[in-house]
Parts: sequence; structure tokens; C-alpha cells
Amino acid sequence: MEQEKLCIFCGQKPGTFRSTDVNVGGTYQLACKTCAREAKDLDEVSLCRRALQRGLADNPEHIEKRIQLITSAEDHRPKCLRCGGRMIFQKEEQLDNSPLRDGVLCTTFDVRPCYCEDCGRYEFYHPEVVRKNKFLAYLIYKDTK
Ligand SMILES: [Zn+2]
Ligand SMILES: [Zn+2]
Repeated sequence: MEQEKLCIFCGQKPGTFRSTDVNVGGTYQLACKTCAREAKDLDEVSLCRRALQRGLADNPEHIEKRIQLITSAEDHRPKCLRCGGRMIFQKEEQLDNSPLRDGVLCTTFDVRPCYCEDCGRYEFYHPEVVRKNKFLAYLIYKDTK
């Protein structure tokens, strides 16, 4: 017989109908409904830390990595080339590079814009490239959610 799973936060048996899944740093963890409700008010790092406390969480290595990513992502945030301020990412945009405004020739390309929160300077990043950088990908998620 399969052993009944415990709530990863309080260590109690939640029972079939009183358990739910909580997304902890991209992993799904079993929790009782009371703990799941409390978990909603936590920021992601606090949630990950609490999930690891009892040693009951599945895939703890993944959660550890997520904490490291979140806590060091700000150190990797691009700085403004003009004033050194923080660059804030925005949603992906399509730019029209057409030389003829209403001509048939129309070339568009996707960019990831960001702006300096101090001086307002804009910069554009290649979306594919920034998506591959785990720190920038996290900052984009954080800035645009
Ligand atoms: Zn619980
Ligand atoms: Zn600036």
C-alpha cells in the first residue's frame, strides 16, 4: 500500500480531499489547504525556504537552485549605459523596419525593450538571446508579470 503523503509545510496528513498542489519554484508540492492558503501570501523566496524546512519537499535541489537564481538575479540586471541606473524590462514588441511607410515592403523584427528607471533611456535586446540567459529570463518574468 502506498504511504499517505504529508503536507510539506506542516508535516500533517491532509487526507485525500483536503490536499492540494502548490507551485514552489516551478515544482508541484503537496500541501494541506490551510498551508496552501498561507503560502499564497509569501514571496517566492520565502515560499521556497519554507518548503525546504521539513525536508519533505520533492526535488529539493531544484528549489535550492531557484532560490539561488532569484537572490542573485538582481546582480545580473543590465545597467544603463548613460547613467548606470537599473534597466526595467518590458513586454516583447515588434518593430517595423520598413523603409516605405505604407509600401508593400515591410520587415518586422521582435525586440525585448527595457528602459532606465532613472533617465528613461531605452535599449532593445534580442528576445531569443535574453531568454537563454537564466538571470535575464527571470528578471523579464519579474518585471512583466
Ligand atoms: Zn499543512
Ligand atoms: Zn539611465
